[in-house]
Amino acid sequence: MEKIEFKKSLGQNFIFDTNLLKFITEASQVNGEDTVIEIGAGAGTLSNQLALAAKKVYSFEIDRDLEERLRLVEEKHNNLTFIFQDFLQADLKDYIVDSVKIVANIPYYITTPIIFKLLDFAGKIESMMFMVQKEVAEKFCAKVGDKNYGIPAVILQTFADVYYVRTIKKECFTPAPKVDSALVKLDINLNKYRICNQKKYVDFIHNCFSMRRKTLVNNMSVKYGFLKEEVSRQLINMGLSSMVRPENISIENYVKLFNLFIDN
Ligand code: SAM
Repeated sequence: MEKIEFKKSLGQNFIFDTNLLKFITEASQVNGEDTVIEIGAGAGTLSNQLALAAKKVYSFEIDRDLEERLRLVEEKHNNLTFIFQDFLQADLKDYIVDSVKIVANIPYYITTPIIFKLLDFAGKIESMMFMVQKEVAEKFCAKVGDKNYGIPAVILQTFADVYYVRTIKKECFTPAPKVDSALVKLDINLNKYRICNQKKYVDFIHNCFSMRRKTLVNNMSVKYGFLKEEVSRQLINMGLSSMVRPENISIENYVKLFNLFIDN
């Protein structure tokens, strides 16, 4: 087998440490009844551990140069299928049939589009385990008022219980990237806030944060044309200042505002 030519452009930083691979599998709570979708198979080291634990694993990899190596991993299991396709282009209806768990060690530049693609299937996803850059993980887990609290935190924590599992030092990867990573687990929980129109809600949160330094009243009036006095009145009714900025509004209050102004 030829040596792997790691492609920086595809975020190829692989994990070969068996203990860490087992830890990720266990922390993902994968068991013999689960169908798992892995994003970014790499050398298939995590795919191998997942296949040992799960009922079925579908693993996506964009890089065809890894195919020969991955087919050897596939041969060792009767429940592992590699799909050589860009995950962002994949038709997930074929794979997300019932309830699935997602496990992904993905490059930072596709983290957001992948999550938004998966949110469309949230009703059929039980959990998602992501290995992402540490600073991205901090943005996912941030609480109201934190400097990292923004669009990802509000959207993800509306639809899921989000946990910072642990930091993974950059030296655990081959080749080592420039920064540390972290594992974040999202347990999908659509009963927390019961948003009917998910797409409208996601757009609403983007609009509320469109100008972070401005007040929410300003952003809502610019984006939707609401009267500033009306938005201020509702904020005051909710016990908030009419000068409140987007990073100081809790998820509960975003949901209330969405129901009052957008989805009524
Ligand atoms: N899971 C392996 C591991 O933990 O060692 C590899 C992780 S590596 C950080 C990310 C992998 O995702 C690379 O193998 C890369 O080629 C693949 N990848 C990048 N973009 C992708 C995409 N759009 N769809 C599918 N795989 C992708």
